[in-house]
Amino acid sequence: MYDVIVVGGGISGLLSALVLGKHGKKVLVLEKRKYLGGNCNSYRVDGFQVDTGPHAITHLQKGPLRVLMDRYFDYIPAFIDYGTYYSRTSDGIKPIPSNLREFVTFDVLPKKDRLMLSQALTRALTLFTFGIDMSKESVYSRLPHNLSEDTYNFVDTISYFLSGKSMKETSIYRILEGSSFVRDSVMYETQDQTITDQLAEQITNITSLGRLVTNKTASAQAYPRGGLKTLLGSVLHSLPDNVEIRTDTCVKQILTDGGKAYGVSTDDESYRADTIVHSGFAKDLPSMITDLPADYLRDLRRIDQARGLCIWLGLSKQLKEFDYIGSEIWFKEKAYWAMPISNYSHTIAPKGKQLVGFMFAVKDSVKSEKRRAWETIHRVFPDIEKYIEMTHYQVTIPEKASVSIEGYIPGVRTPVKDLYLVGTDAVARSMGITRAAFSVIDLLKCVREDGYLKP
Ligand SMILES: Cc1cc2nc3c(=O)[nH]c(=O)nc-3n(C[C@H](O)[C@H](O)[C@H](O)COP(=O)(O)OP(=O)(O)OC[C@H]3O[C@@H](n4cnc5c(N)ncnc54)[C@H](O)[C@@H]3O)c2cc1C
Repeated sequence: MYDVIVVGGGISGLLSALVLGKHGKKVLVLEKRKYLGGNCNSYRVDGFQVDTGPHAITHLQKGPLRVLMDRYFDYIPAFIDYGTYYSRTSDGIKPIPSNLREFVTFDVLPKKDRLMLSQALTRALTLFTFGIDMSKESVYSRLPHNLSEDTYNFVDTISYFLSGKSMKETSIYRILEGSSFVRDSVMYETQDQTITDQLAEQITNITSLGRLVTNKTASAQAYPRGGLKTLLGSVLHSLPDNVEIRTDTCVKQILTDGGKAYGVSTDDESYRADTIVHSGFAKDLPSMITDLPADYLRDLRRIDQARGLCIWLGLSKQLKEFDYIGSEIWFKEKAYWAMPISNYSHTIAPKGKQLVGFMFAVKDSVKSEKRRAWETIHRVFPDIEKYIEMTHYQVTIPEKASVSIEGYIPGVRTPVKDLYLVGTDAVARSMGITRAAFSVIDLLKCVREDGYLKP
């Protein structure tokens, strides 16, 4: 008998196990794969160390992961400043503007369009500041209607980057939040004074029109030295002895009785616990629990997801095109987000070589998307083929629920007593690993409120 069973050993499941374990709970983590970490992982391919997709970890100075690291980690990984987001054109790379001042000189887009976009951004931020809900209005709906095709493509690419969806499906709020124009204003009522104080102190600088001038998108973003596996390693090293982990163990059923969860079962065994934390896909719940309420089932069907194709290229030398720290987007034809990650750590590629990850949205079949992705890579870097030593593909779902206008985000609490959700489909705030960390802080809040952890 355990206090808590965590289904899934990705970063959100392991962070949940860490937090509850450090509060003295006896925790069992069940992971269906042979390895831990889920999408927060790195592995070797022909001498190059690839991550599960290119990563920039956001809100690291002041944010949920920082709070969890400061409070629960025994060992905190070293982070390297993320650098700059660039836009690539046939003339080379140019920093992507993150405030109006920088926008003025962003001559990648026509001057008239820049002016109109600046006005649209100022208007949206003003409305938001006055309390207008921008979470159901699409980015496209607020754009002027006589912009150039390049400008629409640029905005569409940024939308895909921030929500995994097109500008017609992405909300204005998501764009403002993802570009750091607005900060999350939700107070952290965890009943844990230390966490509340720490986060309250950090979340002081909420939305302000002043950010139109001073905003810096890339600040407080970083990449873990040594790769994503370093972050995973530091969570694993910090786990107390009362956390037990079993890999290669797929949970098939979450056992409930009278609307209360009391355990899980695999093909061979069942395990009992007072509380179950599910960190797999919330979309999977209907196949794991027999008696979910009909309205919850209907909502879970509305969860929206986007797929991504990552093409890792191991290059035989460091190309001058990738001589920068940060990442680049290409927004014409088939858009990409690319990151030369070996520039962060020498151990990622063999000496003198380079590793670059190209990330594409998958809207069609993987086969046709691969073909189009290669067409773009060859168009943008006509000579690259000569230097490719290693090619590695990953097709993934980067976030378990896209924050799109029509999509549904279930939240940490479920209609089943003592069953909670964590992960990138449990909260809408922020992105990726930061979003996963937000869900773990929300979990802590819920279990305290439900009397399961002492204040
Ligand atoms: C290509 C790509 C690019 C990304 N870029 C960024 C970025 O730039 N910045 C950023 O912060 N984040 C980024 N992310 C997202 C980030 O990696 C994820 O948000 C994060 O790792 C998700 O963690 P998770 O624990 O919520 O989910 P997952 O990693 O999906 O973990 C869930 C785990 O549960 C296990 N599981 C599921 N069902 C069961 C079951 N029934 N029984 C047992 N185990 C089960 C799975 O095997 C998995 O290990 C990116 C992700 C990808 C794929």
